[in-house]
Amino acid sequence: MSAMLDAIVAGGGPAGAAIGTLLAGQGRSVMLFEKTAAAQDKMCGEFFSEEGARYLAALGVDLRALGAVTIDRVRLAARDVLAECALPFPGLSLPRRIVDECLLQRASASGVAVVRGTSVEQLTGEPGEWCARLSDSTEQRSKDAFVATGKYDLRGRKRNGGSQNDLVAFKMYFRLTAEQEQHLRGWVELILFPGGYAGLQLVGGGCANLSLLLTKSELKRCAAEWSRVLTHAITSSAHLASRLAGATQLRSKPITLSAIPYGYRRTATEDAPWYLGDQGAVMPSFTGDGMSIALHSAFLAADAYQRGVTAHAYQTMLARQLKHPVQFATTLSRCMVSMPALAQALRLYPGAMAWIASCTRVPSHFVKIGDSHRTSPYPSFHRCAGDI
Ligand SMILES: Cc1cc2nc3c(=O)[nH]c(=O)nc-3n(C[C@H](O)[C@H](O)[C@H](O)COP(=O)(O)OP(=O)(O)OC[C@H]3O[C@@H](n4cnc5c(N)ncnc54)[C@H](O)[C@@H]3O)c2cc1C
Repeated sequence: MSAMLDAIVAGGGPAGAAIGTLLAGQGRSVMLFEKTAAAQDKMCGEFFSEEGARYLAALGVDLRALGAVTIDRVRLAARDVLAECALPFPGLSLPRRIVDECLLQRASASGVAVVRGTSVEQLTGEPGEWCARLSDSTEQRSKDAFVATGKYDLRGRKRNGGSQNDLVAFKMYFRLTAEQEQHLRGWVELILFPGGYAGLQLVGGGCANLSLLLTKSELKRCAAEWSRVLTHAITSSAHLASRLAGATQLRSKPITLSAIPYGYRRTATEDAPWYLGDQGAVMPSFTGDGMSIALHSAFLAADAYQRGVTAHAYQTMLARQLKHPVQFATTLSRCMVSMPALAQALRLYPGAMAWIASCTRVPSHFVKIGDSHRTSPYPSFHRCAGDI
């Protein structure tokens, strides 16, 4: 048995790397386990919202310095209808393999023992004494445990389905023609087609990210083949067809993900570990806010931890803060799949897209970076008043 640490973190995505860095900054002994041994592409549209970029900057990760491109306009395409408007906030775009590596390097530099290529297989115990069983057949004990495994559930800690759980995701990088790249520069495009929708944007280096969601029933009709899925999207959307005309696929096969529990928010239970990021709540991806939420959950949890607030109280607070944006976005996501005619309404009122973008993210009054010691979001949850 190894020595007792203050905290173990399962997962080294945005949520895990951020909580590790923040806890190490509080002087805690932290060990983080990340199952991938090296940087790799991840399922993501790679749009960083303004809050996400601010949280990253607070962790010492400067997206622009890493080569991010600016996205400040949104275009919705459905059948022959296009609706366009400026985003209410400028976003940034950069491949996750760059950002996630940079975050893990920051965690390591702040004192986190980052263990790559090792999975947490199972987590047992209770607050005060947790035991993580690892893929290398060893165990690690800690006083607290933070679960940030994103899309993958730990054994015996499965999330329930979410309120929209029939979508399957595909991600492919393309090199567009120079003309199409020019048309896409500065835009994030949402493309609606029967049984699904896709996001398309440049991510730097002349590379465009197409992240596509399709219902399981539509996927069956496409015989679960990527080439047929892409053909289905292209034949249903003249806009996507022109974007991808003459484009080259940059991966031999797409990254895929099934069983995404959109709309999920974890209910707090006693004696549970701290759940962050997609393990705490799953925002439909068209909002481009999942990473902000992951980072927000880490800052909220680190603040709670420092104040002596329980994991239960943190989880309740996170679920409360995200209730309206996640519910609203999931309702919209369902409409986008079932009512592609939605674009007609948005063409008449394109400004509604800016309003939708504002309503489907962490409310700005909850985003507290650097001043969290002044006001507590946990007025009624303190274990002891002396911690405030
Ligand atoms: C199709 C699609 C498009 C999206 N587009 C966007 C977008 O444009 N912008 C945006 O902000 N969000 C987007 N999201 C959401 C975003 O990807 C997630 O919300 C975000 O990655 C959550 O961060 P996380 O740290 O919780 O999990 P992750 O980023 O999934 O990181 C989890 C990490 O844990 C590791 N891991 C998993 N299991 C274990 C284990 N047992 N032991 C150790 N390590 C483990 C994984 O290797 C991974 O590195 C999209 C999601 C989908 C599905």
